[in-house]
Amino acid sequence: MAKPPKTPLKPETRLVNAGRDSQGQHGFVNPPVYHASTVLYPTGEDQVAHRARYQYGRRGTPTSEALENALMDLEGGDCAGVALLPSGLAAISTALLSVAGSGDHILVTDSIYRPTRNFCEGVFKRMGVETTYYDPLLGADIAKLIKPKTRAVFVEAPGSQSFEMQDIPAIAKAAHDKGALVLMDNTWATPLYFRAFEKGVDLSIQAGTKYIGGHSDIMFGCVSANAKTLPALKNTVYTMGLCVGPDDMYLALRGLRTMGVRLARHNESGLRVARWLGGRPEVARVLHPALASDPGHKIWQRDFSGASGLFSIVLKPASEKSVYAFMNELALFGMGYSWGGFESLVILFDCTEYRTATKWAPGGPTLRFHIGLEDVDDLIADLETGFKAMAAAK
Ligand SMILES: *Cc1c(COP(=O)(O)O)cnc(C)c1O
Repeated sequence: MAKPPKTPLKPETRLVNAGRDSQGQHGFVNPPVYHASTVLYPTGEDQVAHRARYQYGRRGTPTSEALENALMDLEGGDCAGVALLPSGLAAISTALLSVAGSGDHILVTDSIYRPTRNFCEGVFKRMGVETTYYDPLLGADIAKLIKPKTRAVFVEAPGSQSFEMQDIPAIAKAAHDKGALVLMDNTWATPLYFRAFEKGVDLSIQAGTKYIGGHSDIMFGCVSANAKTLPALKNTVYTMGLCVGPDDMYLALRGLRTMGVRLARHNESGLRVARWLGGRPEVARVLHPALASDPGHKIWQRDFSGASGLFSIVLKPASEKSVYAFMNELALFGMGYSWGGFESLVILFDCTEYRTATKWAPGGPTLRFHIGLEDVDDLIADLETGFKAMAAAK
């Protein structure tokens, strides 16, 4: 920032200015990308005393510091620090490893991102950490599932692929009353649209691969922590030797600068396409919490200040062949995993097999859309051709 601000800054302004030290970088707007392992000390005495601002590439560089500061500034409030991780999943597993160990118990929402479940069923089970999955709609009743050895409650809202909304303040209160921490996967809303720390979250996770990067060209994740959880988080990151490549850190920082305008467009276009799909005769339901018809809308309205471009639909019963005909006809929707980039995407999904606390029975085929930055009229026209192909294929 050129000069210290005179009034508290709004999130959009912080996105542009946070973590920038133009004075310290010879006036250049952006920080340099330090490709670094060894850091040289001026004297033997300094080396033995570890007397230097930077110690080693893995422990932090001016590039990682700029990104951490920017993310911390965006998070604001009770955020005491941020850890940078090589992917969103690494951010999730590292946050979990920092709060639970052998003999502990954790509660995880049944609507969780599936690889998070795989981590609990694999590494955590092997370590002797027990996981109980809970109905995402539980709210304060989560208290009944909290045992003396429960260390943490993991929330994600809206739910991965299925978009259930969780009452996070109620869950956080129940968890804290019984001494458990609250971890959240906040990838969908980002700190711009959901202020995790103000709602009682202790560790807030983002897959930076999605909206922070924004261009489908990096893998990156981050965990924001409050003062209570930061030391264990940082210690876990250091002892596991986790760090992010300098070019990906730079691209994450660059993506962050435009995340505000991108999200506003994803929000607006996503809602327009969702509403249009809701009016189609082939569609039974649209799973998008910002729509008034959504069962989670009240919670979304109370706790969130925006929606991103990701939502799902339930089709009326249709043959597999006709659903594939719809997908294959689309020219502007790529079929691929991940999301949050500038481009629109669609995938066919099914949560039936792996839900354990709740039953997934939507009553028809389910598709997840990511609405990108294209002109919405073009996207709708493309979807229209898809529905024509669907009808022709029956
Ligand atoms: C994609 C995603 C992740 C994992 O991010 P990666 O960078 O792909 O590891 C985690 N949580 C949610 C909700 C995601 O959509």
